[in-house]
Amino acid sequence: MLWRLCANIVHRTRPRLAKEFSTFVSDPRWPGWQAVIGIEVHAQIRSRAKLFSPSSNSQDISPNAHVSLFDAAFPGTLPVLNRRCVDLAVRTALALGCDIHQRSSFDRKHYFYADLPSGYQITQKYAPLARNGRVSVDDTGRVVRIEQIQLEQDTAKSTKSPGAEFWRIDLNRAGAGLMEIVSLPDMRTPEEAGAYVRSLQAVLRAVGASDGKMEQGSLRCDVNVSINREGEPFGTRCEIKNLNSVKFLMSAILSEVQRHISLLSLGRSIAQETRGFDEERVETYTLRSKEDAPDYRYMPDPNLPPLILTEGYIKQIAKSMPELPHAIRSRLQSQYGISARDTDILMSIESGTDVGFDGEPSRGGAVSYFEQVAKHCNPKVAINWRVPCVLITHELVGQLVFRDEPFSANPVTVTAMRDVLSLLKNKTLTGTSAKTLIRHILNTKTTKPVAVLVQELSLQASSPESLEKLCQNAIDALPQESEAVRKGNQRVLMKLVGRVMKHSRGTANAKDAAATLKQMLS
Ligand code: ADP
Ligand code: MG
Repeated sequence: MLWRLCANIVHRTRPRLAKEFSTFVSDPRWPGWQAVIGIEVHAQIRSRAKLFSPSSNSQDISPNAHVSLFDAAFPGTLPVLNRRCVDLAVRTALALGCDIHQRSSFDRKHYFYADLPSGYQITQKYAPLARNGRVSVDDTGRVVRIEQIQLEQDTAKSTKSPGAEFWRIDLNRAGAGLMEIVSLPDMRTPEEAGAYVRSLQAVLRAVGASDGKMEQGSLRCDVNVSINREGEPFGTRCEIKNLNSVKFLMSAILSEVQRHISLLSLGRSIAQETRGFDEERVETYTLRSKEDAPDYRYMPDPNLPPLILTEGYIKQIAKSMPELPHAIRSRLQSQYGISARDTDILMSIESGTDVGFDGEPSRGGAVSYFEQVAKHCNPKVAINWRVPCVLITHELVGQLVFRDEPFSANPVTVTAMRDVLSLLKNKTLTGTSAKTLIRHILNTKTTKPVAVLVQELSLQASSPESLEKLCQNAIDALPQESEAVRKGNQRVLMKLVGRVMKHSRGTANAKDAAATLKQMLS
């Protein structure tokens, strides 16, 4: 049902999208020019075993520990497709609203390199798993269309230490499952390209298909860039290979756009080529020109029959789909009335624990924490979610980030946070004291109940009597200011309030203090 629904949405939105993408988008950084960007993402599938062999997919072990005879391309060995990889790719395709092909097939892409023992990579050139998807880019509200998703094998890892005589080959990664996710050239700025990759990462993690870590190589991007003037067709593109962080991806695009503009402005033309990115010099350089492009001699793999997916199988997967980031984002805003900015902060805090194997999504980030706090909260506290949300996003998350600790190390339990919120609501704690309390728990990692901590740290909000006493002290200590307030100078009042707050060590409420002072001085 769901996959039909997804497919329908794609069909219905297509004419509107086509119009949207034909609109010329310039940028103040390059007036009169439009930058056009398309991205090919290679995402490692988080399956326990490799794509066509039973050897383990785990990477954190010594080199060449997980290599089957097939991975090492021993003659006579045959590929056996790992069903879990297909499940995860289908999940991804559903999450991206693709048309899933009930019949797809595998092809060989030949090239000769030490990281490829068999001399060919098995991929899906002619009939990929899925086509026509879309990614909603969170920051911009725009959509980037997905051209296709295909299954393919990863290569081995080759490394060479500086000055070493030999390359070292680690076959652990050889034959691991990859999804190649190809976008249409729908992005128009480096920032949009960065936001697209982040949004795609979030979807991959939500469905448990990949942990999508660029820095660790489980998500790798090749970026295609061209520029054109209004009313003209898209320009000649250059492909920048193997960008391994969103930051480098954006700076590579920026420098490539500028290179194209300076060439065209000099009346020269752009040669279609494959380029690398020099992170130190922040510029791209030629890897190979179009003429040198290898001839991969694609051919259907005779050892693998076509992959047939029944409608029942696809429906089954559709039924098990978790809530997707886009849906979570709008639900949080409508259900709790929290701002888009706070929603983004909550959603950007991962649990710090990895996506599990075989499709277990990563759990327990700030969103789930917030919702657990919300679920257990006294309904009276839950009237306005902005306060709890701000306390969690700004105080708790802010402090954890400041301390460079993952969210999984958060010592403020759901119960503790709920208690703090109840005390805030019934005015036993002021906002300042609530922050003090949270920092105390973060510093000491104490597991004592919140009520005990409030006593121990004397954090109870001032009673009306003690507030009056604090105000009287302030009036006595600042006679000139008090006189000015009496004569109607309201601005000086804040100085008195400031003193009350300071001497109360945060247990006084500024509004109450101002009211009490005013009353006493009138
Ligand atoms: P190849 O077979 O060379 O990889 P593809 O047709 O698969 O070529 O396209 C690769 C990528 O290039 C896609 O992500 C696509 O969006 C992008 N692309 C195509 N045309 C342009 C263009 N004019 N400017 C920028 N990117 C482009
Ligand atoms: Mg391609």
